Amino acid sequence: MLKLLEKKLRPVRRNNSPQATNFNDYADAKPHLIGRISKGKNVRGLHLASYCSYCERPIPTSLAVEHIEPKKGPFGKPQLETVWTNFLLACVNCNSTKGDKQVIFSDLFFPDRDNTFFAFEYKADGTVIPNPSLSARHQITAKKTLDLCGLRKKKSQGKKTDIALERVGQRMQIWGQAEDSLVDYRKDPANNAVVNGIVNLMVATGFFSVWMAVFDDIPEMKVRFIQAISGTEESGCFDMADGSVISPHPNADNLQDGGKI
Ligand SMILES: [Zn+2]
Repeated sequence: MLKLLEKKLRPVRRNNSPQATNFNDYADAKPHLIGRISKGKNVRGLHLASYCSYCERPIPTSLAVEHIEPKKGPFGKPQLETVWTNFLLACVNCNSTKGDKQVIFSDLFFPDRDNTFFAFEYKADGTVIPNPSLSARHQITAKKTLDLCGLRKKKSQGKKTDIALERVGQRMQIWGQAEDSLVDYRKDPANNAVVNGIVNLMVATGFFSVWMAVFDDIPEMKVRFIQAISGTEESGCFDMADGSVISPHPNADNLQDGGKI
């Protein structure tokens, strides 16, 4: 059975800054960011992995503090280089593709301010599209967001296409692992060892949204996945009774142009 490969994007809440003043060096924010929005826990509370805020890949060592509004370049805002609300975490591919492009919040969706889980759908061939149920205006916003990090495959992009295809391959592989896990779960849904093993595998492999899509009919597991990575439940984008999506993002930190979807 070939199910639509739906992949969305994990929304997050980073909450108030851990310190009263701006950071001296933005790199100092990294452990706080990982703890708040990207820490994958296993059943014993161990830190198993951290994830790119854009492509959801698990990144063991080279996760970068990503400036949402660029610190350099023609659209750079150097005054935001050390400001907590301007930080996310990203892999080197998403970080370098996004580069110093202009960020207009009203024209883009971001996981710290919009319900990005609701905004996108990935199909079985790996293409990423805006959720078809979005309004025409929000579809344009979703497309612009995908282009910002190179998450849409384009034939003419050369090297960047290779990176996009590599991500597609990884997503397909994790999709297969999630489907195998779903078979195990259905055989013995009351078995805690099986359930914990599946949650640990999701934490280790990343691609949260792939696991959410494959287990879409299993509310209990969706709730477990949402609870397993820091910042996800805190986003307020999920009903924790059954793991269903709540849109728009409540934007509890009152970020500029947040809560569009
Ligand atoms: Zn990435």
